[in-house]
Amino acid sequence: MAATPVALRKLMESFAALPGIGRKTAQRLAFYVLDMPQEQADSFAKAILEAKSTIHNCKICQNFTDKEICDICSSPDRDGSVICVVEDPKDVMAFERLQEYHGLYHVLHGLISPLDGIGPDSIRIKELLVRLQTGDVKEIIMATNPTIEGEATAMYLSKLLKPLGYKVSRLAFGIPIGGELEYADNVTLNRALENRTEL
Ligand SMILES: [Zn+2]
Repeated sequence: MAATPVALRKLMESFAALPGIGRKTAQRLAFYVLDMPQEQADSFAKAILEAKSTIHNCKICQNFTDKEICDICSSPDRDGSVICVVEDPKDVMAFERLQEYHGLYHVLHGLISPLDGIGPDSIRIKELLVRLQTGDVKEIIMATNPTIEGEATAMYLSKLLKPLGYKVSRLAFGIPIGGELEYADNVTLNRALENRTEL
């Protein structure tokens, strides 16, 4: 590695610091960048800088936006009586792809995880309580993942919000379409049974 130019080593280290990228892939990507036309490399670097400097959290829902208040929160076509609470902005994108949900969102940017030292104050729960004081919200859908942390966060918020008079619902989780009952784990099967719907 001694013969590797400093700038190349830095580039490889930068790629290797990204999630899911090992040393070999980092090296391949760095070499790929060196082979890029100058213009493409410039626009790649600019895209990183621009995203980093212009994207921040929406003042209301905490989702990523380049405005003070995001397009969803400021849209007159969205139903302000429902808030769907999710773990991170990727989940908002997933729901928006469906084009079936027309309420608002709240992005927690994490989940409660006592083992990792992440308590309610470490995620955007305070911001949710603040916005509830002014809106005309009636229902809050807990759409966190069906993991231990996701369940714990949903339970925590439910206990907090139900006494305040909000309808708190949870996404139904169960057997995936195309899945088979015999391969489902107990938690999944139990969830599917609990959340059965009337035919
Ligand atoms: Zn927003």
